[in-house]
Amino acid sequence: MNITEYMGENGHEQLVICVDKEAGLRAIIAIHDTTLGPALGPPRMEPFASDEEAILHALRFSQAQTYKYALAGLAFGGGRTIVIGDPVKEKSEALVRSLGRFVESLSGRFIITGGGGGFSEADTELLQRETSHIIGLPAALDGSGEPAIFTGYGIFLGMKACAREVFGSDSLRDRTVAIQGFGRVGSALAKNLKGEGVQITVSDIMAEAVDYAHKEFDAEIVDPDAIYDVECDIFSPCACPEVLNSKTIPRLKCKIVAGSANNQLQDEEKHSQELQQRGILHAPEYVISAGGVINMTSEIGGYKLEVARSKILNIPQTLENIFSIAKSEGVTTTRAADKLAEYRIQQARKVKHSDS
Ligand code: NAD
Repeated sequence: MNITEYMGENGHEQLVICVDKEAGLRAIIAIHDTTLGPALGPPRMEPFASDEEAILHALRFSQAQTYKYALAGLAFGGGRTIVIGDPVKEKSEALVRSLGRFVESLSGRFIITGGGGGFSEADTELLQRETSHIIGLPAALDGSGEPAIFTGYGIFLGMKACAREVFGSDSLRDRTVAIQGFGRVGSALAKNLKGEGVQITVSDIMAEAVDYAHKEFDAEIVDPDAIYDVECDIFSPCACPEVLNSKTIPRLKCKIVAGSANNQLQDEEKHSQELQQRGILHAPEYVISAGGVINMTSEIGGYKLEVARSKILNIPQTLENIFSIAKSEGVTTTRAADKLAEYRIQQARKVKHSDS
């Protein structure tokens, strides 16, 4: 791969390679597009097979984040931090603090978010000791707390917008939802659905997760692979990437797909078309799963729950705009979401250039 060519073609601005031999740190910080504001992105530690694989992941992810923030109405550009290594065996205080110092050295061009991707709350505290360019802090540090609660809430609101589009009413009462993956987001979503009288079916590869779903939410439990065959109104992938592909899509018996799983379409273009051809409405994940990041960014200027919630309430409207573009232009919802994001970035770029 020619990295600079790839970056030029995809609009990336900067790639920072961070190495601290003493601390055992090998990391990459990708900054996609800072038109809307400084790059913001979560860290991930994973033993990538090669530097190239890690770089490509960081570049792709940061680009998707730019679109996500544009559609969530946030003044940030897309970013991503990748630390190469096994978080269980190789993460240390020295490594995390060294990463924090690299983030600090970028003087606010990149803001790291706390938690996730192999980084714990304790790691977030360590990062915060080294850099002020961090958000997504634990509630104990006056931060916004667990983002998945808000991601789940945003998906719930987004499902209502999808129901209005497909069934003509946003009530989910007596609707059926199949949730794949009952982790932080899946269980937060279930809490909202339970309040609305929704019947849920759940699959997870962890026995404790399905036990919890059954006991607390009276969920019907199916084997992990059987979730695609469940007859339901909404299929909600909240587990892992690439679950929607040419093998699974023909098995779906739902009218709507709406869930948080990143890169849930194995091939964005091809599989969004396959869903559309089958009459299934797909809520692009980077739109519907923005609740968590919206909540985190509400830390800036002092966290206020009501401010975060009011911004999350915009998710259904954004989805409605996307459905409307998809219909009027005869494109998939994925393409429509990209178009809307590109339009918003373009508008911001024009304003920026007219100022300078
Ligand atoms: P999590 O790790 O808390 O939960 C994922 C759950 O999925 C786990 O219980 C795991 O056992 C289960 N799982 C894994 N593979 C499975 C399979 N094949 N079938 C069924 N279950 C399986 O993760 P999370 O924070 O809930 O995030 C879920 C997805 O949503 C991820 O793709 C994540 O990137 C994305 N996402 C999360 C947030 C957030 O706020 N946490 C925000 C946006 C997007």
